[in-house]
Amino acid sequence: MKMVFFSAKQYDKVFFNAENEKYGFELEYLETHLGPHIVNAVEPGTAAVCVFVNDRLTGEVVATLAEKGVKIIALRCAGFNNVNLDAAKQHGIVVVRVPAYSPEAVAEHAVAMLLTLNRKTHKAYNRVREQNFSLNGLLGFNLHGKTVGVVGTGKIGRAFCKIMLGFGCTVMAYDMYPDEALAQIGVQYVTLDTLFQSADIISLHCPLTPENKYLVNKAAIDQMKKGVTIINTSRGALLHTADVIDALKTGQVAYLGIDVYEQEEKLFFKDLSGNIIADDMIQRLMSFPNVLLTGHQAFFTQEALSQIASVTMQNVNQVMKGEAVGKDVRLA
Ligand code: NAD
Repeated sequence: MKMVFFSAKQYDKVFFNAENEKYGFELEYLETHLGPHIVNAVEPGTAAVCVFVNDRLTGEVVATLAEKGVKIIALRCAGFNNVNLDAAKQHGIVVVRVPAYSPEAVAEHAVAMLLTLNRKTHKAYNRVREQNFSLNGLLGFNLHGKTVGVVGTGKIGRAFCKIMLGFGCTVMAYDMYPDEALAQIGVQYVTLDTLFQSADIISLHCPLTPENKYLVNKAAIDQMKKGVTIINTSRGALLHTADVIDALKTGQVAYLGIDVYEQEEKLFFKDLSGNIIADDMIQRLMSFPNVLLTGHQAFFTQEALSQIASVTMQNVNQVMKGEAVGKDVRLA
C-alpha cells in the first residue's frame, strides 16, 4: 500500500515513520505542495495521498489523482477548505481528516499570542538581552476583568473559553450551535454584532466557509471597541487583511495576533531568510510593533503531532480495509 505525502517536513517523517511501524505501508515524502503543477508526480498505483493545510486539491487535481488510481485523500489536519469535496465524491475518492488533535495546542497558542501582545514579552526578551532593563514602552494591560469574544465554540474555541474563564475574563461567544455545557460554566452566548461591540479581545475559532470569508472586515471592525485586540489562529481569510491594516494604522485595532494568513501558502512552512518577499501586505503587517505573526504553528506540539500521525494512519488503514470511519472523519 503506497501513500505519498505532500508538503512533508522532517518532523512529519519522524512521527509518521514511527507510527507506520504498526502498518508497514510504503511511505513516500515529497516536500512540494500538491497542486496542478505537480499532481503528475503521483505514480499510478498510489493508493493514498496525505496532504496538509496549504496543498491545493482543486477539481483538476482530484480528477488526475482519480485517473492514477488514488483511493484516499488523507488530510493530516482538521480544516478542509483546500479540498474540492464534490470532485472527490464524483470520482469516488474517500476523503478523511483528523477532526481533533489536541485542540488545547491551538487554544494555548492563541493564549500565548494574547499574553505576548498584552505584556510585550517579545520586546522584553530582546531588550534584556541587550542589557536594557528599562520598562519604558512595556506597559501592558490585565486580562482579568476584560471581555473576551470567542467566535466558534467547537473543540478549540471551547478549550480557549475555559482558559479565559480561568483568567477571570467575561467570556462571550458566538456560534450557530451554542454549547450548553459552556453556557453552564459562565460563557454568555450573544449575537455576532453584540460580540463585536462588547469585546476587548476577539479570538476566532470557527472554520473558514464561503459564508464567513472576511468575517472581520471594515464593517465589523467599525463596530468594535476602539483599541480592540484580535487573535486569529483559525484561517487567514476570516480576516480582510487590508481592512485590518487600515484599522491598525488608526488604532481602532490596538493589537493583532495571527497564526494564519490568507496568502500563507507562498510563505509559511518555508525558510525564506535571505529572500525578497514580494507580498506587501505581510511586509506591512510585520512592520507593526503591535502585531505578532507566527507561521501556522498553533498545532505544533509533540502531543498534537503524535495524534495526527496516529489518527491519519488509522483512518487510511480503516478505509483500505473497508471498515466504517466516523462521520466527523470522513468528508467524502
Ligand atoms: P470544530 O469543528 O470543533 O468547531 C468549529 C465551530 O465553529 C463549530 O462549533 C461551528 O458550529 C462553529 N462555526 C462554524 N461557522 C461559524 C461561524 N460563521 N461563526 C461562528 N461559529 C461558526 O473545529 P475546531 O477543531 O475547533 O477548529 C476550528 C478551526 O481552527 C479549524 O476549522 C481550523 O481552521 C483552525 N485550526 C487551526 C490550526 C492552527 O494550527 N492554526 C490547527 C487546527 C485547526
